[in-house]
Parts: sequence; C-alpha cells; structure tokens
Amino acid sequence: MDRETHLRQRESLLRISRALTAQLELDSVLTLVIDVAVELLAGTTGLIALREEGGQLQIRAATNMSPESWPIFDALLATPLDDRPRVQAALHQASLSADLPLRHMTALPLVFRHTSVGVIYVFRAAVNLEFTAEEGDLLSAFAQQAAIAVSNARLFQSVVREKQHLAALIEQSADGVMIIDARWRITSFNRAMEQLTGTERSAAIGRPCAEVVGITSQEGINLCLSDCPLQRRPLADEPVIAGWVSSGDGRRRYVQSRYAVQLGANGEFLGAIANVRDITLQRAEEALQNSFISVMSHELKTPVSIIKGYAEMLAREDAQWDLATIRDGLHVIIDEADRLTRQINALLEVSRLHADGMRLTLREWALPPLAHQVIERLAPHAGPQFSFELRFADDFPAVMGDEERTRTVLENLVTNAIKYSPDGGMIRVTGRVAGDDAVIAVSDQGIGIAAADQARIFGRFYRVDNRLRRETQGAGLGLFLCRGIVEAQGGTIWVESQPGRGSRFSFTMPLARRQLSTDAPLPARPASGVVRLLEDHASHGSDHV
Ligand code: ADP
Repeated sequence: MDRETHLRQRESLLRISRALTAQLELDSVLTLVIDVAVELLAGTTGLIALREEGGQLQIRAATNMSPESWPIFDALLATPLDDRPRVQAALHQASLSADLPLRHMTALPLVFRHTSVGVIYVFRAAVNLEFTAEEGDLLSAFAQQAAIAVSNARLFQSVVREKQHLAALIEQSADGVMIIDARWRITSFNRAMEQLTGTERSAAIGRPCAEVVGITSQEGINLCLSDCPLQRRPLADEPVIAGWVSSGDGRRRYVQSRYAVQLGANGEFLGAIANVRDITLQRAEEALQNSFISVMSHELKTPVSIIKGYAEMLAREDAQWDLATIRDGLHVIIDEADRLTRQINALLEVSRLHADGMRLTLREWALPPLAHQVIERLAPHAGPQFSFELRFADDFPAVMGDEERTRTVLENLVTNAIKYSPDGGMIRVTGRVAGDDAVIAVSDQGIGIAAADQARIFGRFYRVDNRLRRETQGAGLGLFLCRGIVEAQGGTIWVESQPGRGSRFSFTMPLARRQLSTDAPLPARPASGVVRLLEDHASHGSDHV
C-alpha cells in the first residue's frame, strides 16, 4: 500500500472516531460506519447488519445499495463467516440476484464486551482486487470503534424508548405523578397533577413543589413546608403525606402523596417521584362509617339502658309496686324492645341491600288502610302540637308491591316528618294516581331541607348537619332504606322542600291494573330533588320476588 493511501486511511479513522463519539442517533451512526468502511477500503458497496434479539443478523444500513435489494443478502447473512466455501457460494448467488459484480468481500464482526453486536460487509467489484491482510487490520481497528459507537447508540435508543414509555405511563396515570429534583423543583408534571392543582404543566415545571402543590392541613398550614416527609432524617421507607389541595376553581380535594426517593451513593437526596392520589371520596366514606358507628352505638345503647333501668326498678325486692306502675314499666320495656328490634332490622335490611339487593313479596293490596294504620300507630307518640290528615280518594285503586316494605317506607317518612318538625304542625299523607302509578306523599311543616342536602339525604348514613342532628335520634339509614324499597318496587322517591317551611317526600309505586295495560309511559316527575339511587338494585319488572 502506498504511503499516501496509508495516510488517508489513518486520517479517515481519526475522523470517524471523532464523528462516532459525537453521534448518538443509531441510524446516523450506522450510515456513517458503513460509508466510512466502504471509503476506507475502496469498496464498491457495503452493508452493516445488527444482531437482533433472536440472534439473527438484519441489515440496518448500506452504501450504494437500495433497501429493496437487502433481502438478497439474507442467505449470506445466515452463513457463518468461517465457512468459506458457503460464504463464497452465497456471495456469488447474491451477486447474480442483485445484478452487481460482487467479486470480493471482507466481513468483520462488531464485538462489544465479548458479544457480537453485528457484522460489517464490504464488497469490491474489481477483478483481482482482493482484500489484503493490512486492510483487514485497518477494518478491524475501525470495527472496534464502530462496535462501541453502535452499542452506545443502541443503548441510547433503548433509554430514549424507555423514557418515552415512562412518560406515556406517567401521563396516562389516573393518579397525579410529579418528579422533583435534588432542589425540590418540579421536572415532570402529568395531566392528573394539572387537574388536581389547577396549575398548567408549563407553569409548574421548574418551580418548588411545595409552592405548586401545597398540601395543607385542615387548618390551612402548608404541610409541604412545615412537615415535608422528604426532609426528615432518617427518611421513612415509604415517605407519605396527606392533606388538602385546592385546584384553583375553588374545589378542595383530600390527597395522599407517596414518594419514591432517589438517593446518591453517599445517601444524598437526588430527587423523588411523587404519586398523588385523590382520596376525597374514600375519606368521606371513612368519616361516614365512623359517624355511623358512633351514632349506631348510641342508638342501640339508649333503648338497652332504658330497658335495663325499668327492669331493675321492677325487680327491686325492697319495693312494692302497684299494678299500674308495673304495667307502665312493662309498656316502656316493650316499646323500647320494639325500637331496638326496628333498629336492628333496619341495619340488617341495609346490609342485605348492600350485599344482594332486596327481595320482595309482591301482591295486590290497598294503600289507604295501610296509611291509616301507620298514622294510627305513630300519631299518639307525636304530641299534641301535631295534627294528621289522610287524603285518599274513596276509590283509590289497588297497588302492586310488597305491603310490609311499603309500611316501612311510610313509617320512616311519617316518623321523620314528626322528628324534623320541632314545633309540630300538620302532617299530611296523600295519594293520587298518575298514569299507571300511585304517588304517595308525606308532607310536614317542619325545618325543611336545604337544596344542597336534598340530593344527599337518600344516601347511606347521611344526616343533615343542623341543630336537630344532635337532638334527634337517627343513623341516617331511614331514607336510604326507603329508596332501596321504592326502587326495588319499580318506583322513584324524591323530596321537595323549603328550609323553614316544610318538606314533602313523594314516592311512586305501580298500580295493580298496570298489569293489564302494556308499555305505558311513566308519568313525568319533578326534575329537582329526584334521586335515582341503587341503579343496580332497581328492578322495574313485577317478577322481582
Ligand atoms: P335519620 O332520620 O335517622 O337521621 P334518614 O335517612 O331518615 O335518617 O334521614 C336523613 C336525614 O334527612 C335526616 O338526618 C334529616 O337531616 C333529613 N330529613 C329527613 N326527613 C326530613 C324531614 N321531613 N324534614 C327535614 N329533614 C329531614
């Protein structure tokens, strides 16, 4: 080889090393490698194949050869390089198929860390211009550099891909996800975070997390400043913080933020990934359960202590009770035992409703006598400040439903009307016919219900937070149960109310004659205050027995 060629080759090698180390994009690296290899060895064409996951070689770049002709080299690529006769035959075949005079070939494996990552092939068309051993050495020096560059670019490519996957994962997460750096500044902020905090990503990135997210205590203290779990030493295994965030539109959400911390070799804080979950509903449910337990234990304890008190009094051996006192005492015991039974039944009903819906005994019966019985039973306990009125047409048609369950509904509504009318007043139970339904309403002149509470009172354990909440007994289960029963019978329950003026609770149930007419539309109902609940339990057919 002449001196000039030698120099040119060395220069190329230097140039290529520099270019390769500066390049991380895999396709550019491969094109550069094969272009330089062909130039270096004065080849006609060349190609570079990388080893895929299964170990087979696949062409990734070529010089002076269009991608359409790459498949022609499949057989050559599949032939082990040390099997010279077969390599020659495959080369000859490829040469014919490609219509290219590929007379000589040199192939060099790209080896990185003792693993073959691919092979460079360079071809010459000229007759009698075989590759010399010196050229082989040059190519192998080059191949070493190329193998490193290719491996780095592949690594880089997989890192970029992983990063894209991660970014997509973070973005799609239903939880808020935020990444912070060693100086507590936000470097990544997903869509759920934007919604939670009402802050756009562009405004959040680069700012301190305590400023953007600001999880506060009930009293409004910014816990991210006063009690950040990432600042505590030693760090907890799973640092976590819970509190309120406001989303800018005035909505407050209760969130729990868990952190995965990244530490350096010396334990220094490098950053963290925060997973911020909205647990407002969960918390409300927990609060509801807690208040239910305290209310329920009070509700159950009261009759038990009254029963025990009276029983102890009657059992005293040092006292002589006259018959009237004994009878009065026993009546109190019976009443309280009944109350206890009702409470326990309500509880059982609710848990059954929760577990597998409601089972009804459907049959045809008359509503007015039932309403009459309910008033007769409850009115004597209400007090002289109440008056009661029943309004049903004499020919009120028979209804189809579960009589005992409907009694429970009416009893609950009338009991509530009494309970929530501290100054007494008129309690009216009315019935009318609307299409194929009976509409039964219980109205009072009591404290009424604010619009915001009207949709919630039919929920489990919900009691309106007013002065009567403490003064009256109740567990917030009555209306929940009413709704379950009414809907299981194919009806709807709703309330119309004005605070301070009174409330009217109405519910529908099918008329018995409905069985004869088919597909009749349901009557229109007031939109406000209508609450559809327990959709999954509601059965609109008459076969729900
Ligand atoms: P409870 O009466 O045991 O609390 P309910 O489920 O029967 O539970 O009622 C839920 C809440 O709805 C009550 O706590 C009360 O605040 C409100 N409420 C029910 N009925 C009336 C009514 N007639 N007038 C005013 N408020 C009522």
